[in-house]
Order: sequence, then C-alpha cells, then structure tokens
Amino acid sequence: MSDTIFGKIVRREIPADIVYENDDVLAFRDLNPQAPVHVLFIPKRAIATLNDAGASDAELLGKLLLAAAAYAKQEGLAEQGYRTVINCNEHGGQTVFHLHVHLLAGRRMHWPPG
Ligand code: AMP
Repeated sequence: MSDTIFGKIVRREIPADIVYENDDVLAFRDLNPQAPVHVLFIPKRAIATLNDAGASDAELLGKLLLAAAAYAKQEGLAEQGYRTVINCNEHGGQTVFHLHVHLLAGRRMHWPPG
C-alpha cells in the first residue's frame, strides 16, 4: 500500500501526541477530536482498510481492539464506557488509508450516528 501520514507517525517522521504503544500498536490523540477523549489506535504494520484485512491479520485486528480496551481501563474510562469505530472507504467516512480504530470517550455517544 502507499504510505500515509500515519506511516510517518509510526516512523516518528512527524510528531503526534502518542499515548500508548506496544510491539504491534501505536495510539495517539486525534488532531480534530470529536469527544473529550479521542485516540486513534493503529497497527504499526499498515493495512489500508478493513476490506484489505485477511485471515493472516486476525491476530493484529484483535490486538488493536485489546489495546483500545486496555487504554480505556488504564485511563479510568472503561466503567462509564466509550465507543470504538473503524471507518471504511467513502461511505464509512475514511480519510486516512491506514486502518485505525477511533476510541471516543468522555461524553455520552449518540445512536444512530450521523
Ligand atoms: P478517518 O476519517 O476514520 O480516516 O479518521 C482519520 C482521523 O485522523 C481523523 O479523525 C483526523 O482528524 C485524524 N488525523 C489526521 N491527521 C492526523 C494527524 N497528523 N495526527 C492525528 N490525527 C490525525
């Protein structure tokens, strides 16, 4: 896949407010937050969209979600709750083609989303 701004963040070529990291996952604050807490969890090994993920990515996708949950627990967000979102392609609202999980917290979320 072609490189994205998130690849540059993984390689520390551009700055980001990194809040969580493990061997496979990096997490940083969204530049344009949609909630009091808005953190993006990305795999260090890029996958463009959820459509591009295959069976060999199953463990990595699981690690992304587990990292988001671990961060929420660590930050005391878990009990009140939060939302995790993966946008895919145009109708999903995806703008950066390096798969990522949005973690939104710190306020009540609305359903259905707009
Ligand atoms: P999506 O629309 O699901 O692809 O989400 C992309 C998100 O990345 C948006 O919420 C943007 O605000 C955010 N974003 C774009 N560039 C950066 C950046 N350099 N650092 C942090 N967040 C970014």
